[in-house]
Amino acid sequence: MSFFQEEFVATSAAVRVRFGAGVRHAVGEEMERAGLSRALILTTPQQAQTGVEFADGLGPLAVGLFSGATMHTPVAISEEATARAIALNADCLVAVGGGSTVGLGKAIALRTDLPQIVVPTTYAGSEATPILGQTEDGRKTTLTSPRVQPEVILYDAELVRSLPVAMTVTSALNAMAHAAEGLYAQNRSPVSTLMAVEGLRAFRDALPRVIASPQDLAARGETLYGAWLCGTVLGQVGMALHHKLCHTLGGSFDLPHAETHSVILPHAIAYNEVAAGRELAPVADIFGGESPGKALHAFAVAMSAPLALRDLGMKEADLDRAAEIATQNPYWNPRPIERDALRRLLQAAWAGEAPAV
Ligand code: NAD
Repeated sequence: MSFFQEEFVATSAAVRVRFGAGVRHAVGEEMERAGLSRALILTTPQQAQTGVEFADGLGPLAVGLFSGATMHTPVAISEEATARAIALNADCLVAVGGGSTVGLGKAIALRTDLPQIVVPTTYAGSEATPILGQTEDGRKTTLTSPRVQPEVILYDAELVRSLPVAMTVTSALNAMAHAAEGLYAQNRSPVSTLMAVEGLRAFRDALPRVIASPQDLAARGETLYGAWLCGTVLGQVGMALHHKLCHTLGGSFDLPHAETHSVILPHAIAYNEVAAGRELAPVADIFGGESPGKALHAFAVAMSAPLALRDLGMKEADLDRAAEIATQNPYWNPRPIERDALRRLLQAAWAGEAPAV
């Protein structure tokens, strides 16, 4: 199948990516290559010990560790960490972790323009995008700026081995959602489509092997490769219904990020396949189902992913309000956003049913 388009615009960020088991030990080398010598290391409280190991490995190249990264990138924490970076006279940030830690690094870079070296430990893909979501006074806002795009990414499969299996599955489906929506993005290019298809294929092949054997380095490496591809797609093209719904459910109903992506993905893709059947055809080819949405649902079932919003704490009584919020602020989607159809989608996702299409 060719992904040729007669017209397109393709923009790629100047990001240096290194891949390989053990490549986390190359942070110092990367700093020296870029003329940097004073790193502030960032982690969540849960991954502080990993941060200490990075500091030990870097020796005098590390000037501090800030282990306060948390979900949703609260502005107060970003300001505290920025003040620390300035006080320590840091000349770069080394973020070790998932989307929350990467988000903190981006928030500091927004305020200081410090270069970022990122060592991802989940598949969320934020490291590959110029997008930053921040929260203040309970409100989440998102911005896109080349200033927040990390300059160097080190993908080390050894670091994702500790990701628990349940989080591995939801994080992988979160990544796959970037690729699936990238397939029908208005500003897609043949290259973003190639990456999306290869990213989905990587997860199809490697995720079952990771679940069977979470320490399998080759399989972990291939899932990280998928995460890089899917994250790069997210950074290059616009997202639609799936991401909008997940932001609504996360922002207004406090549902967990990766799990919500897992539950919604087959339903959002099924909703859109009537309008973007040709663009989504690779999904059914890769996952082998009668339709893209059903194929993704079958894959999620096989991976023992969460399937129902009710299991994530969503109340049935809130589904009407969720449909209202998701229909406000019109945004581009291949199929027009119809409130009643969206309400049915949410009902099926709440109950954990397979998508109807
Ligand atoms: P996360 O970063 O919040 O991590 C969840 C928990 O898992 C944390 O406690 C973390 O310390 C722990 N953890 C991470 N890696 C681990 C590992 N290998 N072993 C053991 N524990 C580990 O989760 P996430 O899903 O990666 O990130 C979600 C956040 O990222 C959300 O806020 C989301 O909005 C954001 N995000 C942003 C973008 C973007 O482009 N801006 C893209 C994707 C996600």
